[in-house]
Amino acid sequence: MPQSIEDNPDLERVPCVICDVDECDTVLTARDRLHGLPGEFPVVRCRQCGLVYLNPRPRPEALGKYYPSDYRAFKKVKPRKNKLGDRIADVILRSYYGYGTNGRPAPLWKRMALLPLYGLFCLSPKNSVVIPFHGEGRVLDIGCGSGKFLHFAKGFGWDVHGVELDEAAAEYARSELGIDIRTGDLMDQAYEPKSFDVIRMSHVLEHLPDPMPELRRIREILEDDGLLVVMIPNVGSALARRFGGCWFALDAPRHLYSFSRETVTRLLEKAGLRVERITQDWNACTLRQSLRYLGKERGGLLPKLAKFKRLMRLANMLIAIQRQCDVIVVWARKA
Ligand SMILES: [Zn+2]
Repeated sequence: MPQSIEDNPDLERVPCVICDVDECDTVLTARDRLHGLPGEFPVVRCRQCGLVYLNPRPRPEALGKYYPSDYRAFKKVKPRKNKLGDRIADVILRSYYGYGTNGRPAPLWKRMALLPLYGLFCLSPKNSVVIPFHGEGRVLDIGCGSGKFLHFAKGFGWDVHGVELDEAAAEYARSELGIDIRTGDLMDQAYEPKSFDVIRMSHVLEHLPDPMPELRRIREILEDDGLLVVMIPNVGSALARRFGGCWFALDAPRHLYSFSRETVTRLLEKAGLRVERITQDWNACTLRQSLRYLGKERGGLLPKLAKFKRLMRLANMLIAIQRQCDVIVVWARKA
């Protein structure tokens, strides 16, 4: 049975963050499959806008206990190995995306000549999200961890900045990688308005108890023609629907929201942002992990496929072609 608010003072009821009303239906009851921490959490859908979220959910001050020390323990950034794939990526990033050239892509004839390499580049799931060099290249990564993306971008001439809650990860990036990373959350930081050409937020939005003030702050510190890039799980995908309570990216109770293309668009609109496009991130390992959860729950043959990495990669690619990935990338600008 899900816990009731009367039994557990750590829980709170919340209205839909898009509609500001508490009118919802329970879709399923989730539990912490990742760490096995106790508790059952109703996943609800707003009757007005269709937003899927936890309700009731742990109060913000009680959320800390659901992030044990081994949750996303920070990893040191490994140097690139200069393998063939990395060398191809370097050429394409410079020629097509303005990396290392202050945003100037190569002339058309050169890009045409490089088309076969571009095709190879697109076949790697690692390249499913490439942010083109934009403006003066001032980029802020919110929830940047140990600075993997920022370190990579810095190598191509981006002016990189980060915000990270984990003090150990932030300190590592500052001292070992020489990156300006501030500890805390975005609302603690005194950035000037229009400080950034690009703001990146990878797998952060779904964790925020109250995303609206944070999104409005992002709008404020973004340059007028700036770009916001948000990676989130997609509850509207075929994978999420198929796996139900075994969907890896449900991740209760850390994921307080499960957005779809429609609901994330409405949320960003409410914050004064306009969604330009939504693309697929097929680099995620959610399919393998979801199959593992399914195997633990029901057994059967299908979950055994999770151990075949290449098969999983092929499946992810086919799912991406059908635009049904359970991780999406939302590209937005100021409205
Ligand atoms: Zn709603």
